[in-house]
Amino acid sequence: MIAYRLIQKKRDGAELSTAEIDELFRAYAEGRLPDYQMAAFLMAVYFRGLSARELAALVDVMLHSGAVVRLDDSPGVKVDKHSTGGVGDKVSLVLAPLVASLGVTVPMMSGRGLGHTGGTLDKLEAIPGFRTDLTLAEYRAQLARLGCAMIGQTDEVAPLDRRLYALRDVTGTVESIPLIASSIMSKKLAEGIDALVLDVKRGGGAFLPELDLALELARTMIEIGRAYGREVVALVTAMDRPLGHAVGNALETEEAILTLRGEGPRDLRTVTVALAGEMLALAGAVESPAAGRVAAGAALDDGRALAFMARLIDAQGGNPAVVEDPAVLPQAPVRRVVEAPGDGVVVAVDARRIGWAAVELGAGRTRLDARIDPAVGFHVTAKPGTVVARGEPIASVHAATAADAERGAAALREAIRIADGAAPAALPLLSHRITHAGIEEWTAVG
Ligand code: URA
Repeated sequence: MIAYRLIQKKRDGAELSTAEIDELFRAYAEGRLPDYQMAAFLMAVYFRGLSARELAALVDVMLHSGAVVRLDDSPGVKVDKHSTGGVGDKVSLVLAPLVASLGVTVPMMSGRGLGHTGGTLDKLEAIPGFRTDLTLAEYRAQLARLGCAMIGQTDEVAPLDRRLYALRDVTGTVESIPLIASSIMSKKLAEGIDALVLDVKRGGGAFLPELDLALELARTMIEIGRAYGREVVALVTAMDRPLGHAVGNALETEEAILTLRGEGPRDLRTVTVALAGEMLALAGAVESPAAGRVAAGAALDDGRALAFMARLIDAQGGNPAVVEDPAVLPQAPVRRVVEAPGDGVVVAVDARRIGWAAVELGAGRTRLDARIDPAVGFHVTAKPGTVVARGEPIASVHAATAADAERGAAALREAIRIADGAAPAALPLLSHRITHAGIEEWTAVG
């Protein structure tokens, strides 16, 4: 194989054969192709896309770059959820124990922060002692025993995705439909699921802000799922503002626990319950997603979901006392309240700006090997449309130093825009439901 010919071929818009895709990516997986050539190829894919055949070949080589887990010792339909990435998106921490508390097996393999977005693993690891690095044997055993495990992508599962994900993060090649779709679906297919629910974000804080691209991404992943005999349902949800109030690992974990207690922010609960409804229906635990939403709401209100979370944390070595006392989580030494600079209406809460500001505080990584600070982040109470008075608290910064807190406050003042008059309409929290049968507007979903 002459790699530069394949790079040129993609650059010039020609289609690669299945064998060429297979050879190129296999060479990268085996360390025979350097990062710079793969980066050039990924950039060509960013501009030229992949045909359906090329995409199928890529998913296949990514999926089979490691073990494909079988979960035969866990009963029933195994269902997971994956988000395309957002700011303040702590849904998985509520959703996995919630759905598992209703008797459905939830194998959840998650990622770390990518770009300006947070990652479930970093949030879970804010819980003292919590292990996300279970071996595949431990993962299978916990799923069979408890019905839920929340782990990171091990070296054994879709290792090619791990390397490509890291390379894309630093080469400006994240925002590509075939690259996102193959990344998500290869690891989901490898983790042993029977069905999958996707939370496809749109709006300024999403990797693909435009609705038409979000819908195309959803359809692409649903088709990949079908090719492997897995049912996939996607909901399109808003990411023009952060989800909930908390952004930053321990703060988000605390908010997830509040939501499991039935006391969390309404938007976070609504999205979580909608996704839970789909998961429960796919698993056959309820007759319809609507019935699933009712069951999920009840499990949040009567403490079943919270009790399950305590068992899950305990099973993975974490301190289960956190569900009663979030003060067990790491706390930032400096807190600074941000006040509204004038009277008016909040017209925008820029999720992407806040996401990058959280990375700058230390909540995310600017280099692959960087250590994150689990305690730092923001608590943003202002939502688009809120009427505020000058001097009213609209957010707070949780930082390691006074200087960081000042920089974080300045970023929040830029991100939260307040003006006279009416706020432009924010995106609907839930806007579309996509299945292999087509696209429905959420307002029409019963
Ligand atoms: N999440 C993933 O797992 N992969 C991507 O490429 C983007 C979001």
